Amino acid sequence: MQELHHLSVKRSLTVGGDRFKIYLDRKTIRNRVSELGAEISTDFAGRTPILIGVLNGAFMFLADLMRSIDIDCEVDFLKLSSYGAEKISSGVVQELKKIDASIEGRHVIVVEDIVDTGLSMEFILKIMSEYNPASLSVATLLHKTDATKVDVRLDYVGFRIKNLFVIGYGLDYGQLGRNLADIYVIEDDS
Ligand code: 5GP
Repeated sequence: MQELHHLSVKRSLTVGGDRFKIYLDRKTIRNRVSELGAEISTDFAGRTPILIGVLNGAFMFLADLMRSIDIDCEVDFLKLSSYGAEKISSGVVQELKKIDASIEGRHVIVVEDIVDTGLSMEFILKIMSEYNPASLSVATLLHKTDATKVDVRLDYVGFRIKNLFVIGYGLDYGQLGRNLADIYVIEDDS
């Protein structure tokens, strides 16, 4: 079979009128996501965890993470209010879509794109724990370690990054940029 030729990774681009430059390329992301999937498969062997994706940003990471998990697992989604086109976390979060699955007694893994202040994750974990799951874990692709204000336990972290605004691989800038296969950082901030 003919080898697939991927589009080459762009070094920089414009989204929503701002310039962004490459930060994490697709190969780096793919390798790390595979490692996280392997870790989860080992940690949850013999159980059937349910992955709860946080919409919208986590959909791409969740899809790749799930394909890297080789034990039985299920999926569901919740949605929080977003910060709109803002680059700074307002910290004000609301639940816009609840999960449909019953997670009482289940092994739940919340899957997020990025943990910034940690306020969204703190809010999600509070809601999830009220359903009495058997266990509650967190997988996040990115963690802005210096920006995190609250103490949330992150079990699976793809990359620890600086306090910079990033887009791509599900992460948006005013709803744009989610379709990028690579992660980019805004040029002004770096
Ligand atoms: P937190 O509540 O931890 O401050 O923020 C989490 C949410 O803020 C993420 O799920 C994401 O929607 C948004 N966010 C935080 N930092 C970034 C960033 O650098 N880029 C993008 N696109 N969204 C971000």
